Amino acid sequence: MSKTLYWIQGGSCGGDTWSLMNADTPDPIELLTAFDIDILWHHALSATAIDDLAALNRRILAGDQPLDILCVEGSIINGPNGSGRFDMTPQGPRKDFIHQLAQRARFVLAVGTCASFGGIGADSEIMASGLQFSKWEMGGLLGQGFRSGAGYPVINLPGCPCHCDVVVGTIGPGR
Ligand code: SF4
Repeated sequence: MSKTLYWIQGGSCGGDTWSLMNADTPDPIELLTAFDIDILWHHALSATAIDDLAALNRRILAGDQPLDILCVEGSIINGPNGSGRFDMTPQGPRKDFIHQLAQRARFVLAVGTCASFGGIGADSEIMASGLQFSKWEMGGLLGQGFRSGAGYPVINLPGCPCHCDVVVGTIGPGR
């Protein structure tokens, strides 16, 4: 059965996506076919129409659409004052949506230094954090005790951007 993957950007420059696009052994398309990965959503790679995204999100959050791999690119934006309202989706702060998605995923990957630790925005008014770290301190958006559906903490793939071979090598052979 295919592994499902959902890729979401937080406070991101997009560099980790472009790094992934530079993979060549395998390239992104070979990665999907060789490891039978079904991309539910990626802003540049998935076939899902933007008009269908809200319904897809609802199915995932309801548990009707299994989610194996959640990839987060970019920092979690918590400002102003912890509200996350500097980075909104139609449903509310993006940080809250990412938190909900993480509860449904078997594996959660923080792709790049921003998603892992907060990056350069950690010391600014956007109050950026990583998924399970805020700079060097454990915690972040999901908290120290978070474990994904498969029983793992967030898998941090730091680098600015994360090297494409690291992303491909982690996503591909994963269970
Ligand atoms: S880690 Fe680097 S490449 Fe990735 S979103 Fe942050 S600034 Fe961009």
